Amino acid sequence: MIRHQEKESPVEIHIFGARGSLPLGSRPSVYGGNTPCVACIARSGAVLVLDAGTGIFKLGRELADAGPRDDLFLLLSHVHWDHIQGFPFFAPAYDPRGRLHIMGGPTAGGTWEQALCGQMQHPYFPVPLSALHATLEFYAWPTPTRWPIGPFLVSRAPTNHPGGGFAYRVDCEGISVVYATDTEHFASCTDANLATLAAGADLLFYDSTYFPEEYDSHVGHGHSTWRQGVDLARIAGVRRLVLFHHEPSHEDESLADMGNQAAREFPNVWVAREQIVDLA
Ligand SMILES: [Zn+2]
Ligand SMILES: [Zn+2]
Repeated sequence: MIRHQEKESPVEIHIFGARGSLPLGSRPSVYGGNTPCVACIARSGAVLVLDAGTGIFKLGRELADAGPRDDLFLLLSHVHWDHIQGFPFFAPAYDPRGRLHIMGGPTAGGTWEQALCGQMQHPYFPVPLSALHATLEFYAWPTPTRWPIGPFLVSRAPTNHPGGGFAYRVDCEGISVVYATDTEHFASCTDANLATLAAGADLLFYDSTYFPEEYDSHVGHGHSTWRQGVDLARIAGVRRLVLFHHEPSHEDESLADMGNQAAREFPNVWVAREQIVDLA
């Protein structure tokens, strides 16, 4: 059920999809098989959803069970397919009694509405965006860099990714979460924009698509490794690092090994899986 599980926690973070690029349908995994979707749930019950990968399907079912609402916010990092392909299956978007606020950083290739509409156009999908009967409200990022979205205060930084994209920092009730997926590190230095965004954060989600030994053959693909996540977490003074956006061919054993290697260099590290994140 999508609600606060513990009264002591001011905000809860639920991961509904931690895989990158392609959902896993072919084999079970303790890390889950869905593409990116993370829900931040405020004590008030307001929900900020980061990305609409296939994980948003399960989130949508849980939200639909709880009834219509107008405090549901969807914040998109970019429009690569693995981050939006669950949207046409998001149950709250079909409820005419509900309202869904959709936003993200400024896009170069059209609006967020055009992007979501485009993936649902004939011949790619049978149901058009106009068939979604909730009130969909699309927002362009306002001029100030910090944006209050319901009870969440959101900041952004550009990612280093083909086609562009954004990392976000979400501050809510004293907890700060940084979502930095689909970004490639720089060869010679730490990404200063991300270091600033993540400064002192409680939680840093970081693109750990490739193992360090795989990276050289994927330069320019727009993804990073756990090692650069550790570097960024140290420089930014992050409390906990979450390795995220797992490459679809990575088996559980190798993901667990990744976590063990990272933990030797940054003890408070966690390999993302589909469950509530322990903020301790
Ligand atoms: Zn991705
Ligand atoms: Zn991407």
